[in-house]
Amino acid sequence: MFKSINRLHRVVFALTLGGLLVLLIGADNSSQVVSSQIIDSQSFLLQNMTPPGPPASELSAKVNKLLSQMTLSEKIGQMTQLEIGMVTQGADQDIHIDPAKLHKAIVEYGVGSILNVNQQALPASKWQELIRAIQDEAKKTRLKIPVLYGLDTIHGANYVLGATLFPQPLGMAATWNPELLLRDSQIGAAETRKAAVPWVFSPVLDVARQPLWPRLYETFGEDTYLATVMGVAAVRGYEGSNLSDPTSVAASLKHYVGYSDPTNGGDRSPALIPERELYEYYLPSFAGAVKAGAHTVMVNSSEVNGIPGHANKHLLIDVLRGELGFHGFVVSDWADIKSLVSTHHVAATEKDATAMAIDAGIDMSMVPSDYSFSDLLLQLVRQGQVPLTRVDEAVRNILTVKYQLGLFDDPMRGADAPTVIASPASRQVSLEAAQESITLLKNDNHILPLSKDAHILVVGPNADSLIPLNNGWTYTWQGGAEQLYPRDYPTILKAIQAKVGEANVRYVPGTTFDKEIDISKAVDAAANADAIVACIGEWSYAETPGNIAELTLPDAQLELVRKLEATKKPVILVLIEGRPRIIRTIVDDAKGILMAYNPGNEGGQGIADILFGDVNPSGKLPITYPRFANRLFTYDHKTFTGSDTPEGQVLATPQFEFGYGLSYTTFSYSDLRINSASASAPQKIQVDVAVKNTGAREGREVVELYLSKKFASVTPPLKRLKRFAKVDLKPGEERTVSFELMRDDLSFIGLEDKRVVEPGVFEVQIGGLTQSFEWK
Ligand code: BGC
Repeated sequence: MFKSINRLHRVVFALTLGGLLVLLIGADNSSQVVSSQIIDSQSFLLQNMTPPGPPASELSAKVNKLLSQMTLSEKIGQMTQLEIGMVTQGADQDIHIDPAKLHKAIVEYGVGSILNVNQQALPASKWQELIRAIQDEAKKTRLKIPVLYGLDTIHGANYVLGATLFPQPLGMAATWNPELLLRDSQIGAAETRKAAVPWVFSPVLDVARQPLWPRLYETFGEDTYLATVMGVAAVRGYEGSNLSDPTSVAASLKHYVGYSDPTNGGDRSPALIPERELYEYYLPSFAGAVKAGAHTVMVNSSEVNGIPGHANKHLLIDVLRGELGFHGFVVSDWADIKSLVSTHHVAATEKDATAMAIDAGIDMSMVPSDYSFSDLLLQLVRQGQVPLTRVDEAVRNILTVKYQLGLFDDPMRGADAPTVIASPASRQVSLEAAQESITLLKNDNHILPLSKDAHILVVGPNADSLIPLNNGWTYTWQGGAEQLYPRDYPTILKAIQAKVGEANVRYVPGTTFDKEIDISKAVDAAANADAIVACIGEWSYAETPGNIAELTLPDAQLELVRKLEATKKPVILVLIEGRPRIIRTIVDDAKGILMAYNPGNEGGQGIADILFGDVNPSGKLPITYPRFANRLFTYDHKTFTGSDTPEGQVLATPQFEFGYGLSYTTFSYSDLRINSASASAPQKIQVDVAVKNTGAREGREVVELYLSKKFASVTPPLKRLKRFAKVDLKPGEERTVSFELMRDDLSFIGLEDKRVVEPGVFEVQIGGLTQSFEWK
């Protein structure tokens, strides 16, 4: 039970809409009610939960009827997913259907799903042409079951040429604006479905607690709660209220579960995650997205605690279906049944691996480049090694989603929708997302915003290319095909030139990603500059090719910046990178630092808008930015021994904290109050705080609520994020933001590996203020 140890305060929380919306009450001098409402993170979450439950009985009857007419090999066909090269000839843009291959896949094997690009993105019209041929072939089969096509829509429809591309998910998390991500996902869904593709392999819900991991930028960062809120936004944006809508697609939650914390930092490398940590940090984002109605799940290619994801029956059946209540279908990741033999060594033959994976709960195998899965599963069922009931269950799950997507009515649904690819309105959402993601980490003596009369020296390998602004999963898997990038989006350099005039900008790259080009030329050019904008960071990569052995930024780039800093001209670092590369040696002498993540095609414009003050930054770090390569930790770590000494303090202080980000205005916090639970809702704790814009320009502040408990039966983390809300404030304006904590927010995974709430004193922290309450 809740007991406040503060004095009781006037309750400013006035109204709820459906019990969920938080009304902001003005607490400025005139104390008038501020008209606009904001939705805090929890209200957003709850509003977007539409648990699907088991399929309606009418749909189940249809599925069962169809199933009863299917032969064993037709059933196994539905469980088989091939890559597009299995039905096409040619490469790149010159790709076309190979009739013999298509016949073999669709008519002979009855393949139920196809995925991916053949090397590179295609225009929507080309996708429609290929997919129409595939669906027409399916109509030649006995039961005419439509094929389910799937694509990696990771930051917008990145495999549809010309589509709207958004910041990569890590940047979207930095906006702390789930409504913006919802819109981004709606646009990504509509533009994917316009290509007649009804299924996306997204969102990535792996909570990224290992900064070396090359897939960090595909995630919503290191915090479980932020990732859960964002994951729900993505699912609701993709799936809408009806999967059969021509602008909706089925989401795939990936990569279930524990992929993101490999011990050695490499992609698809083993992780050791105790059950307690799995439940505390890694499962909630999946649980939230399942509750939000997601229809498919993709499995972790790697292993956790010695058990490969694709052989983990406990996680796939007991936890995913039993505890999380998932009702959709489970797809393997790329060739991962084969990996049980070749990588994980838990099966001696592919046949054994197939039996193992199907038994563990895999419904569909992303084979993807041969027919081994179909042939082996047929043998296994005929020999009684895999029960037919298990095959039936898998096929039922798959067919249900095909019906829900409306594919039986129209396998090309979406192709005729009025969706305009990359409409001005969609591009505007992408620009806003880029602007809201960019995070101001340092601004000594208000060096930023820069004057539009200034002479600017632009340096660095990332200044004049759209590739690092986008990173992997952009037109190609690795994102490095320059010729596929659009011409009508400015790079950072071009956007800066547009702000101050070409004549006032000098560009000297200085280095490539890791090699010197002309550092001394850059240093010479500094003499005539008022400010230097150094666009540094990473080039593009995806998955295993992005593995690194050293988190520190390559020396060539550090050297370039160090030499420029030595000129004493003000240097502003613009970091374009998919993970936080160590920059300790250049931070102190830099006057300004912007973290831009991978902001997408609008990123050049968004960065320039912030550099020159047309937009006030409001992004906050969704990760801890480490200071030392060998001292990696998340913000919600446990107490470190020795951090009470000065040396220990340095080791325990990251370069930049999770949740950190500056603005061109300033905000002050006051009146943090914890209000007693009402008699009708004894399980709720209301937290109010006043936030004021104390600067001279309008700004947006993310109000972050952290909770901590000093003593618990399992060593408690320093603090955990529990709520947030993004608030617009005019100069001088003050508002009170109210949050409602539930009993569940006080819980953690206890000694018995079960969620518990223990009595004791809790501390609420918001914007540097703290207040305690006691739970009895
Ligand atoms: C990745 C998945 C992706 C799949 C299909 C795999 O290598 O791990 O995230 O969805 O390929 O492209």
